[in-house]
Amino acid sequence: MKKEIFTQVAARLETYRQQIIDLQRELVKRNAVGPDHGGPGEVEKAAFLKDLLQGWGLQVDNYPARDERVAGGERPNLVAWLPGRREQKVWVLSHLDVVPPGDEALWDSDPFVLRVEEDRLYGRGVEDDHHGIVTSLMAVRALLDLGITPERTVALALVSDEETGNEKGLIHLLRSHPHLFSPADLIVVPDAGSTDGTLIDVAEKSILWLRLTLEGKQCHASRPDLGRNTMRAAAHVIVALEELAQEFSLENPLFRPPVSTFEPTKKEANVPNINTIPGRDVFYLDCRVLPDYELARVKERVLALGEEAARRFGVSLQVEPVQELPSAPSTPQDAPVVLALARAIREVYGREAQPRGIGGGTVAAFFRQAGLPAAVWMTVTQTAHQPNEFSLLSNILGDARVLAHVFLED
Ligand SMILES: [Zn+2]
Repeated sequence: MKKEIFTQVAARLETYRQQIIDLQRELVKRNAVGPDHGGPGEVEKAAFLKDLLQGWGLQVDNYPARDERVAGGERPNLVAWLPGRREQKVWVLSHLDVVPPGDEALWDSDPFVLRVEEDRLYGRGVEDDHHGIVTSLMAVRALLDLGITPERTVALALVSDEETGNEKGLIHLLRSHPHLFSPADLIVVPDAGSTDGTLIDVAEKSILWLRLTLEGKQCHASRPDLGRNTMRAAAHVIVALEELAQEFSLENPLFRPPVSTFEPTKKEANVPNINTIPGRDVFYLDCRVLPDYELARVKERVLALGEEAARRFGVSLQVEPVQELPSAPSTPQDAPVVLALARAIREVYGREAQPRGIGGGTVAAFFRQAGLPAAVWMTVTQTAHQPNEFSLLSNILGDARVLAHVFLED
């Protein structure tokens, strides 16, 4: 890459501040909450982006997934193409859908109306995942304005259903249109990261969510001798499960924390009154397990340790998986996409990027399962899914430069 070309692109991006705000405003006002969360879906937002990108002269293809729950019966999955010197592609995959605003009383302004306060842009979706949409669009816009042909063909994927399982989004693309992707492509997923822009996510832990149901015998609290208290048994089961950390104690410095974790989380309501001993208790365990371990083995040990503790109280225990996602193979730390991002981050931010593993659950896992090395990266405010979600204009400009740098890589 010629240094002066990148300098021109970076300077050009600096002139897009108002364009970025305007684009964020248009995106925020098009509610794209998915139907699983009771929303209208991504159709309107996708139509807006398709028009915009076609207006820029780009070819935009749609690979919709059937879904009778939304108007028109389809969830859109757009790919906009900017042809490069080579057929080999740089993908940037962003998602169109957003999570619901949650309790609107916790917002200082309407979540679906962009609010600008100096460097901060507020609204539902501004970070997750308009940050990815806007940075990739602006990087392409700069190349178009300057008449620069990128080295690799740039493919911007704008997909549905990231927040509710990906079946109508990336999974659909990989299943029904696998020819789109090649292991030689660079695949960037701007959907998570760190506040200093140095975290490149290349690996994930396996996710295992378990429901633990204890059955005992309900009775009056004044006669515990007549019942079998599942609340007390559950407390002992939770303590017994601390043993899991010792049994699955491997460490991998790629991950933060470097160990597998086994956290009791949700607890269902049992009895409504204080003077009844509960005869049934249900709680959940969220396990994030290093790729070295089989989830079947973890389930076995949860049941054995839990049963042993419950038995002392004459209480039975049932363990059922709620979600079971074995981790995908990691993207190598020296994969071309990781190295290209690291060089770009060094150039733009003057910082050294860290390839790392995270606790699981990014859309990149589906690429990795399909043998496609993908890297998750962006500079975040860590306000995704929260009230008063915001994105920094300065992060958007910086990250657009990073993406442009990747587009221009030789
Ligand atoms: Zn997201």
